[in-house]
Amino acid sequence: MANLILKPGREKSVLHRHPWIFSGAIDRVTGEAGVGETVQVCTQQGKFLAWAAYSPASQIRARIWSWEEGAVIDERFFANRLKHAVERRKDLVREEESNAYRLIHGESDGIPGLVVDRYADWMVVQVLSAGPEHWREVVLSLLRDITGIQNVYERSDVDVRELEGLPLRSGLVHGNLLPDTVQIHEHGLQYQVDIVQGHKTGFYIDQRVNRLRLQAYARNREMLNCFSYTGAFAVNALHAGGKSALSVDSSGEALERGKEHIRLNHLPEDRADWLEGDVFQVLRALRDRGRSFDLIVLDPPKFAPTAAQVERAARGYKDINLLAFKLLRPGGILFTFSCSGGVQADLFQKIVAGAAFDAGVEARVVETMRQSPDHPVALNFPEGAYLKGLVCQV
Ligand code: SAH
Repeated sequence: MANLILKPGREKSVLHRHPWIFSGAIDRVTGEAGVGETVQVCTQQGKFLAWAAYSPASQIRARIWSWEEGAVIDERFFANRLKHAVERRKDLVREEESNAYRLIHGESDGIPGLVVDRYADWMVVQVLSAGPEHWREVVLSLLRDITGIQNVYERSDVDVRELEGLPLRSGLVHGNLLPDTVQIHEHGLQYQVDIVQGHKTGFYIDQRVNRLRLQAYARNREMLNCFSYTGAFAVNALHAGGKSALSVDSSGEALERGKEHIRLNHLPEDRADWLEGDVFQVLRALRDRGRSFDLIVLDPPKFAPTAAQVERAARGYKDINLLAFKLLRPGGILFTFSCSGGVQADLFQKIVAGAAFDAGVEARVVETMRQSPDHPVALNFPEGAYLKGLVCQV
């Protein structure tokens, strides 16, 4: 068993139960530790601090499994963690609400680097760091036992794996027939999810509660749905009696699926429009044509995955929010989001405030939004709060 010895004074965050140990906090490693193997984290004086998964290639050199000295990191340990996380979901998402939700949310469920989403009778797994990569076989087999779901697809095809020195991987893990799409339901609406090619694990399940919230504002309104992906916000708006919904995305395939979602839910096709293009340009073109809307959704991709890109990201958010404020009619509603880990809620609100000011509109926040409850944020891991949103009324 290798020991990971911290520099003097660097044990503070570990004692406060933050699960990450950065390379800069480490004085030395004694003994042999392979990729993803368990190491003992200790102080200079040799005092036990935690058990962690070792990730030699990453800036986040170790991720903590447990702060209990008596803990044994073995199959039983993972069985426990997985079982409890799955059990907790019963309070967070009722089956009649949706059959698509996150079962395991990494650090916030005590399993750093592991994401598991359920889509009806499928599980889609993302192994994001060295620890769960080391325990992959064990975890995958436990997941099937615990959930009873036998169809498993892996989508470990995300860039963060490169930071861990791990190759990208995706493919069928278990189950025999891979369908073209998996049909799921959410708040009484149906969607077809492409778990193989779709974004993330196939669908933006983190927006589930916010999509429902949008219904409260959609009735009789003309909506502009920016960064629409497969049109889920538009489906909710029209379902709630919206007058029209124009969805904009750079992916033509996503828009095609959006059209299918309108048909699938028996919504009026003549009220849904689809525009393939760059939102930054489309917003300008709509402004130049004097168009206006009663309800606008801005749900862009991550502009700043880490703190380093914050400034550029802030400019991007400011730009689209400013244009959106200009396109809103008096009394109009803006649903605006950021899923950038590097942009915190208070900064995001400041950016949106600056955008309203520059657009010359008076606006107020009437609701704040976050990721759905099946994407919890452990209190010792504030980084888990990645999705923030504001409902603004002008
Ligand atoms: N609102 C969606 C999720 C949006 S994800 C939902 O609820 O399902 C972000 C989307 O933005 C992706 O579909 C991506 O194709 C699209 N996108 C990224 N950059 C874009 C750009 N510059 N212009 C238009 N769409 C863009």
